[in-house]
Amino acid sequence: MNKKVEWDIIVPVKLPISLKNVEPGKLHPSLLRDIPQGGKLHYLAADAWNAMVDAAKKDGIELKPTSAGDTYRSYDSQKAGFLKRYQLQPIPGQSTKTFEGKTWYLKKGMAMLATPGKSQHNLGLAVDIHTASDPKRLKWLIANVLKFGFSWEVVPSEPWHIRYTEGDAVPQAVKDWLALNPKPAGMFGTPAEQKAAAEAIEVKKSEPKVVDVSIAKNKPRLIKDNKGKAIKEAQELLTKHGFQCRPDGDFGPKTQELVKQFQKSKSIPITGEIDETTWAALLS
Ligand SMILES: [Zn+2]
Repeated sequence: MNKKVEWDIIVPVKLPISLKNVEPGKLHPSLLRDIPQGGKLHYLAADAWNAMVDAAKKDGIELKPTSAGDTYRSYDSQKAGFLKRYQLQPIPGQSTKTFEGKTWYLKKGMAMLATPGKSQHNLGLAVDIHTASDPKRLKWLIANVLKFGFSWEVVPSEPWHIRYTEGDAVPQAVKDWLALNPKPAGMFGTPAEQKAAAEAIEVKKSEPKVVDVSIAKNKPRLIKDNKGKAIKEAQELLTKHGFQCRPDGDFGPKTQELVKQFQKSKSIPITGEIDETTWAALLS
């Protein structure tokens, strides 16, 4: 018997840059976005998912996760699920997994589950689709998943489990959808915000950061509506740090917003003023 199925579409996962050095299941909240049907996904996967859901809807196909817990899973929730399904007491003939240096046995009647930290759900890239094997739904998915950067991981046993594989190379169909559905204001999304979130994680991973304020000793404290050379310097430094800022020497609302985003990215107090700590962070 040929076990090859029509939807044998498996593309290796390219990791978005924002997920490099990130512990699976411990994503910074700014990397995750709520999806309308409940649950969360990495923002790139969320865009692709939302675009695909809309396209399916136009064709009369409803796509939704089997539950909110079948989108992004934190390490703790993956672990809780794992402990529900696996036990240490040996069960002859049952499949096993190694976790925390021990062999675990799948309980009878339970579906397999990835070891905590090993699932694409822990990266916010995977979704389990509700009744995916319904013929009409599966047919639509076969014809469309690749266009939106998704594919399967385990075929034919897990038709519901798809994951976003395209990393930072947003597929054209998703770009087209984004052009018609701009991200709501205030949501995580601009390149500067994404960079800031990725940097914030790297900063967190290194030793607790002590800002050396001595380098900012001679810098004036700047507040909104100030003007002058020092503002221009700060604006240029903001740009250098990835917060594109017009160096017009005028501390207007746009500059202030960027200052706040910068402060947030550096985990320093979000004052919207360029004080000694902010100068130090800008200069380092
Ligand atoms: Zn899954």
